[in-house]
Amino acid sequence: MPTEKATGLVLRSIEYRETSCVVTFWTREFGKVRALAKGGRRLRSRFETALDVGNCCDIVLIRKISAGLDLLTEAHLRERFAGLHQSLQAYYTACLIAEILDACAQENDPHPSWFDATLRTLRRLHESEVLNPLLHWELMALQEMGLQPMLEHCVRCRKPLEESPTSEPIAWNAQAGGVLCPHCGRTTASRRTLPAELWHSWRQAIRHSASAIPADISRQLLDLLHEYWSHRLERPLRLAKYLSTAH
Ligand SMILES: [Zn+2]
Repeated sequence: MPTEKATGLVLRSIEYRETSCVVTFWTREFGKVRALAKGGRRLRSRFETALDVGNCCDIVLIRKISAGLDLLTEAHLRERFAGLHQSLQAYYTACLIAEILDACAQENDPHPSWFDATLRTLRRLHESEVLNPLLHWELMALQEMGLQPMLEHCVRCRKPLEESPTSEPIAWNAQAGGVLCPHCGRTTASRRTLPAELWHSWRQAIRHSASAIPADISRQLLDLLHEYWSHRLERPLRLAKYLSTAH
């Protein structure tokens, strides 16, 4: 049977029968892939520890053997991100990235440059640097998925929003997916307000992907983004709570 080679990040692994597992990879070549690893749970499996969540592997697959599953025939560890194994915060952050990818990446929809950028983000994660890399990664993920919230125009009437000279808070509605002009803000029930500084930093972070955002602003933006992801993905992010409470 023809085989395909790919580079894949391990997003999830679930037990399958006595000794096997079904591994979800995000691959550079094919987008999301679910593959059966026969014997993958045996102590001395030929896959060894390559299949731990957060690892990047060189894999060989036989595509679509049954019910949308590929068969994993080889997996060799390509990169194990050291920072994730030295800090619980870094590990949770990587798991949150895997959770978002698992929820929104699609089969046969590869994003090679986003894939490479994700590996760079995972390399940057360590105890003292979690929030900034995660914030920039999530902003990139929203852009790659076409899920960017509307920040420059009112999400209801499309009127451009201007910086208020008095730094008035801006109305924001996660469900509608963007900010609201003062008029629509007054007439929309389920909204909250963003401090002007936060709105400004959010747009700055989108424009300058390498900008360093102060930790307290990053934390507030990540809380907003996690609320927004939950609306877009129609379920809460399981791992987001570990980040917001620990910092
Ligand atoms: Zn409006």
